[in-house]
Amino acid sequence: MIVKRDDVITWVKAVAAIIEENSAYLTQLDSEIGDADHGANMNRGFNTVIKKLPDVNDKDIGTILKTVGMTLISTVGGAGGPLYGTWFLQSGIKTADKFTLTLTDWTDALEASLNGIKMRGKAEVGDKTMVDALTPAVEALKKCVQENINLSEALNISADAAKQGMEGTIPLVARKGRASYLGERSAGHQDPGATSTYLILKTAAETWNGS
Ligand code: ADP
Ligand code: MG
Repeated sequence: MIVKRDDVITWVKAVAAIIEENSAYLTQLDSEIGDADHGANMNRGFNTVIKKLPDVNDKDIGTILKTVGMTLISTVGGAGGPLYGTWFLQSGIKTADKFTLTLTDWTDALEASLNGIKMRGKAEVGDKTMVDALTPAVEALKKCVQENINLSEALNISADAAKQGMEGTIPLVARKGRASYLGERSAGHQDPGATSTYLILKTAAETWNGS
């Protein structure tokens, strides 16, 4: 299996749909430890992304992902917008001029995204952010590359790793973002950004494994 340009477009559309479906849930999580806007923020961003897609859907994967990133940066405020914008922008830079993605390409793209997010937000694993879901997913992908696991299985393994990372944020005390203002009281709640990160990776596994 290989991921083609049109599969990437299908994924971005599916992400917009799953974010819309989970908008109230993400906002609920953000109301517990933040300012109750994560679902609305992400939804607004991906709705605008959907409107921009027709301008680039005949371009290379890098151009498509960079467009997603720039759209998120310009339409989503707060911490989430620039950080998710960085994710897609960095993935887009890594996949410039590509029309297909192998497991190695996808792994390199997500690793660049994670590095960009960490550079921008200064969060490390354990700070109770999206980094806690994305890091184990990238590590799982790298292990799959080393072990020659096929792309389809690797996508499932990395989505499972992100899910564990997301669930692992529940007991953590937040050290970055708005949730950190709560100090110890942030423990016992699942991080909204780690949750949206899991949804995005789960959607990649589901859409691409069906293709
Ligand atoms: P805001 O916090 O500005 O309201 P959102 O609610 O859209 O933005 O997004 C909140 C999410 O952003 C958090 O749940 C967390 O996962 C993520 N986040 C916040 N600050 C950082 C950071 N410095 N590094 C990485 N992720 C962060
Ligand atoms: Mg918020």
